[in-house]
Amino acid sequence: MSKQLIKAALLSTILFLSACSKDDDIQDNGNSTIGNRLSTGDSAHEILSDEEFTDMVIEVVYVEGYQPSQISLNNLTSFIKQRCYKPGGIELNLRAIQAPGKETYTIQEIDSIEREIRSQYNNGKRLALFISFMDGSFNEDTDSSVVLGVAYRNTSFVVFEETIQTLSDQITEPDRDLLESTVLRHEFSHLLGLVDLGTDMLTDHLDTENGHHCNVESCLMNFKVESGVNLIGMSSEENIPKLDQQCLADLKANGGK
Ligand SMILES: [Zn+2]
Ligand SMILES: [Zn+2]
Repeated sequence: MSKQLIKAALLSTILFLSACSKDDDIQDNGNSTIGNRLSTGDSAHEILSDEEFTDMVIEVVYVEGYQPSQISLNNLTSFIKQRCYKPGGIELNLRAIQAPGKETYTIQEIDSIEREIRSQYNNGKRLALFISFMDGSFNEDTDSSVVLGVAYRNTSFVVFEETIQTLSDQITEPDRDLLESTVLRHEFSHLLGLVDLGTDMLTDHLDTENGHHCNVESCLMNFKVESGVNLIGMSSEENIPKLDQQCLADLKANGGK
């Protein structure tokens, strides 16, 4: 796959409008899962501030062979600490899952897989996130456009790790850790309500043609951030695209750092 494909790559969000039936929202232990089954951006304030949740657990599952690097996970954790008030700390909970045996996934299928395997839900002062690293690809990928990640619920997103592996670590392609770290931070920022997705804009910087993205080209929340020149290089943290001042200001106004 040539690097040209990255140029059109989208990091999308999908809004779920479907309601869930009540019985499905109770876990075996009697806890409700409904607080983790809202739409992307709905819990932006709760993730940013420590008013309701003072610590965080991130459940990371990956299909065998598609494990994210520790560097990328560390880069996500450091980003969360920079933006969110979670004085009780952030715990990572990593495990492998069997390949579901599919070549492509719809977001409904990704969501169903989450329902079967997710074990961590909000509990007391602890907020739970869920991230899956999948084989195969997104069902809406085309020859000229591929999706690397999708934030599809208020506390969950998927990373299409096989697509990332195809697009990285060759000459003229981005470093894999750098691409992974960028996708992780970008999708997590959708959970923080960017852009105009549960976190109000103080100034108008919405890219109206490309959904909930930032119109500043160098911003982490630009829709084509992963094609930027700063992605060619080593995976040091300073090479990961950053949030621009407008995105940062929005997060602060909604209770973040
Ligand atoms: Zn996006
Ligand atoms: Zn921005």
